[in-house]
Amino acid sequence: MVKEIQLRVSLQEERFKDILLTKSARQLAIGKDAISGIKILRKSIDARKPKIYFNYKVAVFIDEQVPEDSIYTFEYKDVSQGKAIHIIGFGPAGMYAALRCIELGYKPIVLERGKNVRDRRRDLKAINQDHFVNEDSNYCFGEGGAGTYSDGKLYTRSLKRGDVRRIFENLVFHGASEQILIDAHPHIGTNKLPKVVQNIRKTILKYGGEIHFETRVVDFTVNKHKIESIQLQNGDDMPAKRVILATGHSARDIYYLLDKKKIAIKAKSFAMGVRVEHPQHIIDSIQYHCSGKRDSLLPAAAYSLVQQVKDRGVYSFCMCPGGFIVPAATANGEVVVNGMSPSKRNNEFANSGIVVEINADLDLNKYEQHGALKGLEYQKDLERLAFTSGGRTQAAPAQRLTDFVEGRLSNDLNPTSYQPGLNVAPLHSLLPKFIGSRLRKGFEAFGQKMKGYYTSEANVVGVESRTSSPVSIPRNDSLEHPEIEGLFPCGEGGGYAGGIVSAAMDGERCAEAAINGL
Ligand SMILES: Cc1cc2nc3c(=O)[nH]c(=O)nc-3n(C[C@H](O)[C@H](O)[C@H](O)COP(=O)(O)OP(=O)(O)OC[C@H]3O[C@@H](n4cnc5c(N)ncnc54)[C@H](O)[C@@H]3O)c2cc1C
Repeated sequence: MVKEIQLRVSLQEERFKDILLTKSARQLAIGKDAISGIKILRKSIDARKPKIYFNYKVAVFIDEQVPEDSIYTFEYKDVSQGKAIHIIGFGPAGMYAALRCIELGYKPIVLERGKNVRDRRRDLKAINQDHFVNEDSNYCFGEGGAGTYSDGKLYTRSLKRGDVRRIFENLVFHGASEQILIDAHPHIGTNKLPKVVQNIRKTILKYGGEIHFETRVVDFTVNKHKIESIQLQNGDDMPAKRVILATGHSARDIYYLLDKKKIAIKAKSFAMGVRVEHPQHIIDSIQYHCSGKRDSLLPAAAYSLVQQVKDRGVYSFCMCPGGFIVPAATANGEVVVNGMSPSKRNNEFANSGIVVEINADLDLNKYEQHGALKGLEYQKDLERLAFTSGGRTQAAPAQRLTDFVEGRLSNDLNPTSYQPGLNVAPLHSLLPKFIGSRLRKGFEAFGQKMKGYYTSEANVVGVESRTSSPVSIPRNDSLEHPEIEGLFPCGEGGGYAGGIVSAAMDGERCAEAAINGL
């Protein structure tokens, strides 16, 4: 017999060997001997009160053998002779579209402008050390897309859009830890993601798919409202009947191309702001009600904050406990920051984007002449401003949090995890008032919600501008662009995802749609 029960284990109890066995036996009123094994199904931390608990959901096996750890399998077929589906972009959306094509018996032909994960590392080093951004290979572009050298948090709110568990099991199948199936807030970590991505590549190639790195798509031919071929940067023309466009939200050249070809795109609401960085111990002491070091059983603490300021949401985005701020620009002449963390989240800093919602219909009056690209142009202007005010390298403009809110230039800055370095800048007066004034009010409110958060020991770093796409590419019920048969806008770049998991789920859906009638 197997019984699923909930257990609540205090931090002190967590140290006792066999605590789950003891508690399970007590709750089920049976002897420990009757229990042949316990499998943890879910684990979360409840740190709302000073006494911290772990909440477990467990399966208790009574007089019955515990099954071997399940090995997830996916039914991949040999597609080497299958009909082709072209996939532009090898981020989470493109990778999962390719895997789904193989399950369905179709041959994915992936075209990716960036390099494989190993070669890509050299370009990341060049951004951090030489302040040089390779426009095809950076934190956003290359094998695994923006998801590879990312934080690898696997939270999603789009539970209705697909089978989240299936995405997780597939990640485990390709080498992620089974822990992601248990944790309430699963996370892979930037040190582990490249291996998972490489394994996905191996599966695609093993079953007869194709992946072409360093292959940028620059145009496509449409004839009688049907996609006909794809043009590559090297001049090649590739005939294609079904194209999944999964180029992510940083592929600005794709938005410009669609706009130039008068193919419908739309301005979309998005969010921009700054990244704030605290010493991790400050966040730990607030969230875990402790002073000094957190308990060794507790992970680096996270937070999630939101405040309505003058009719717009100000909120934390992509919070990275024990992490690093990274330079996520995709071109020289711009500075963009984002965050990532290793699987152990053991760095001494906690960083998070703090962003202001930008309503595409109401807030971009000065950019109306750019039509559907108005949000993109606003985003670009902010990134250029960060570049010039940071000193015209990948060093980022920064200010102490209290100075930013109180409107004075900082004399100096706190230590940071951001490798290219920080330069003092008056972000409070440089940022557009629409964003800056809301951020300042937002930070004050966050200081009320989390005592100790509002501190001069934190830095505010500019700019966090790539939270989601400022443009969406429309599609109809069959997930095709309404004007072009055979073109399937997909993932974050189309406006259909906002993170690794939702992009992966959208990739699968687009693959299922693309094989229709082929
Ligand atoms: C530093 C960082 C940390 C992040 N942390 C998290 C996190 O913890 N959790 C989370 O859920 N999300 C995180 N994200 C966001 C997440 O990575 C994205 O939401 C996700 O990768 C979007 O997937 P996608 O496949 O739609 O697009 P992308 O991942 O952007 O992939 C698009 C791919 O298309 C390629 N491409 C673009 N243009 C062309 C072209 N013309 N020709 C050929 N190829 C092209 C690009 O090179 C890229 O590889 C993070 C992002 C960054 C940058």
